[in-house]
Amino acid sequence: MVFGEPVTRRVVTVTGSGVRTAGNWDVPLGILASDLIAQAGGYQPDIARLVFGGPMGGFALATDEVPVTKAANCLLALAAKDAPVEPLPMPCIRCGKCAEGCPVELQPQQMLWDARAGDFERAEKQDSLFECIECGICSAVCPSHIPLVQYFRFAKTEIWQREREHEKSSLARERFEFRNTRTERDKQEREAMLAQKRAQLAAQKASESPAGGSSASEAAPDDKQRAIAEAMARAKARKDAAQAEKLAAPPKDEDTSA
Ligand code: SF4
Ligand code: SF4
Repeated sequence: MVFGEPVTRRVVTVTGSGVRTAGNWDVPLGILASDLIAQAGGYQPDIARLVFGGPMGGFALATDEVPVTKAANCLLALAAKDAPVEPLPMPCIRCGKCAEGCPVELQPQQMLWDARAGDFERAEKQDSLFECIECGICSAVCPSHIPLVQYFRFAKTEIWQREREHEKSSLARERFEFRNTRTERDKQEREAMLAQKRAQLAAQKASESPAGGSSASEAAPDDKQRAIAEAMARAKARKDAAQAEKLAAPPKDEDTSA
């Protein structure tokens, strides 16, 4: 974003002895290097190498079917006479020339060691990898022809990739924890609602019972006691009636003698 606007175009310098018309071209991002070269009049017959990013910090392209990105400031087409075969890299001899030439006063040989060992944390935190401006001077002055700046780009890309993965996993964990919290909250709300409903039903049942406010379970013992008392009264009445009948009846012996 620049001034609140997304970057969709950029000016790219197309130059070198391998292209017909050198110049600056305002092109949309994503245009192929081959189309850019076509705009510049095409290749010279002795084209030997295509470099994206300038003579010092640039990197050679294996094909021109690659898109222009917002970081691509220059496309360098070199004829055979300007593109000698690069010697094979040799081991670092700790001469310190890379550190002497670094405009940011970094220790490129140490960052190289970190990148080769895969110790990206040390490269970032201790050796200030991200202060490297990728100017390519260290690579140019190295007597062992080590492509130092390529190692630094690789290390930065690895660190960014790991950060992205870490962010993704953190986001996934946060979403998982939020889901668990939401599920638990829904469960508690459901239980509270059911308990409230049960209480309402119990209150409604109690108000509808004949005891007029007392619950059915409270009315039951009174009914039972009343029934027992009535049964006992009936039994006593039957017993009293039987006894009175017995007393009113004449004795059997008196009847036979008469
Ligand atoms: S210039 Fe090359 S050989 Fe010398 S210290 Fe740096 S990386 Fe090693
Ligand atoms: S590429 Fe980085 S480490 Fe190498 S000289 Fe430039 S700023 Fe220093």
